Amino acid sequence: MTRTELLARLRTTPRWDVLVIGGGATGLGCAVDAAARGHSTLLLEAHDFAKGTSSRSTKLVHGGVRYLAQGRIGLVREALAERATLLRNAPHLVHPQRFVVPVYRQWDRLMLGVGLSAYDWLAGSRSLGASKLLSVAETIAALPTVRQWGLVGGIAYMDARFDDARLAITLMRTVLDLGGLALNYLPVEGLRREDGQVRGVEARDAERGERFTVAARVVINAAGVWADDIRRLDEPTTSSQLAPSQGAHVVVDRDFLPGDTALLIPHTADGRVLFIIPWQGKVLLGTTDTPRHDTPLEPRPLAAEIDFILDTASRYLTRPPTRSDVRSAFAGLRPLIGSGQGSATASLSREHVIQVSKSGLVSVAGGKWTTYRRMGQEIIDRAEAAGGLVRRASATENLRLHASPDSPSNDVLGTDRHSIAGLPGANRQIHPALSLSEAEVRYAARFEQARSVEDVLARRSRALFVDTTAASEAAPAVARILADELGWTEIQASEMTEAFHQLAEGFR
Ligand SMILES: Cc1cc2nc3c(=O)[nH]c(=O)nc-3n(C[C@H](O)[C@H](O)[C@H](O)COP(=O)(O)OP(=O)(O)OC[C@H]3O[C@@H](n4cnc5c(N)ncnc54)[C@H](O)[C@@H]3O)c2cc1C
Repeated sequence: MTRTELLARLRTTPRWDVLVIGGGATGLGCAVDAAARGHSTLLLEAHDFAKGTSSRSTKLVHGGVRYLAQGRIGLVREALAERATLLRNAPHLVHPQRFVVPVYRQWDRLMLGVGLSAYDWLAGSRSLGASKLLSVAETIAALPTVRQWGLVGGIAYMDARFDDARLAITLMRTVLDLGGLALNYLPVEGLRREDGQVRGVEARDAERGERFTVAARVVINAAGVWADDIRRLDEPTTSSQLAPSQGAHVVVDRDFLPGDTALLIPHTADGRVLFIIPWQGKVLLGTTDTPRHDTPLEPRPLAAEIDFILDTASRYLTRPPTRSDVRSAFAGLRPLIGSGQGSATASLSREHVIQVSKSGLVSVAGGKWTTYRRMGQEIIDRAEAAGGLVRRASATENLRLHASPDSPSNDVLGTDRHSIAGLPGANRQIHPALSLSEAEVRYAARFEQARSVEDVLARRSRALFVDTTAASEAAPAVARILADELGWTEIQASEMTEAFHQLAEGFR
């Protein structure tokens, strides 16, 4: 469906059952759950799907080894159950990942071994394979570039990794498959009331300026770190609920960690863990935990965060990565629930809180990607009550997401690949260093709501997050194809290219 057709549906639907504000993991999880129950569902995203935190995660579908160390058993157990659900329902986007923790003190080997056995036990029948103590030789075989001096062995365990932005695009497609509507570039700017109750929103088409008054039985605020802003549209004097924390990542070439095994550094100087993960033909390193008082749309990693990641990794790798090895650096803001600003955020809650205001606005704060489906289910249970909707059971536990193949596949496009093969340019690569074809760009414009060069190079493909220089070089070609698909003038195409170049500067 074209944007014109999607907007026509928005204009002609008199009232929705469920209206979701925010197209990140949380909002998309709500919209899929509501649509799968048969409620008429609308999701409005101010920018692009996953433009916020949901494209900037560490790409792990995990119980959270660190949360286990904090004794948060319920959270870990639930997340491990969701890991199994996601592997089943999105086998093109979520994959088992082997990790090895290199150990330099016998005591750590013992403690970590016990902890990871508990992790296996919590996964129960959904375990992806038991954790295992490794000898020095086995550790080096799994991690050929690990620092060998003082190494006493390692511990291997299984978790899962995914492509976060692609999962968001897939969820958006799933909403449409289920008969719902999800639209990007439609910021919500006000709430609409009936008898004092929130019964819809005022939104604006960010591209053409058209204003929409949209009626809905219940409105869900899933605006991530911006959720407090929406809560204030409802209750202007309400206090902030979120204590955002920034996490940075850097991406370096594969030769820093060849092979398929990821490395977990169990203790960083600030009492956290650091992951070094093979991802998209490169290696992803992260993350940090830096309290922030503001919530910019495009947070930049601080120089100190990049140095911290590189320094920490250097202690564990034979060849230390330096600033000049960084192919891309990005940051995201965790929507953590907390009180008071400036406190250390590493211990604040990763769990979520659902609140229903006096006027019936359902707000959600916190959470993680791994548990997006469970959160969606709980939020829609609450929303059905708040909006007086017919109560229906959630139907997402066994819902295969859009384009899911029958068996695991490394092609993020899943069964959509067949449609792409028939489009012009299926064999024309955009850039020698990127796996992106002309046909994939056309597909993104026609079927995945890509509206800008950034939408294609940051979230439909992950080029910006993987290789900033190659992404910048590819931008003019992507703009030319999008101009053809979306009817841009030459001036618009060069403006879009320039906007992308400026954005990419922040990822260097
Ligand atoms: C550094 C880092 C690493 C992480 N790693 C992991 C991990 O490995 N595994 C894991 O499970 N979780 C991880 N997380 C957590 C996970 O990424 C987040 O919990 C999740 O992405 C939050 O999704 P969200 O939908 O709540 O927020 P967002 O993704 O930010 O979505 C909110 C959306 O609301 C939109 N919006 C805001 N205002 C409006 C408005 N007025 N109208 C319409 N739309 C609006 C925004 O544009 C945005 O797209 C990580 C988080 C960070 C920061």
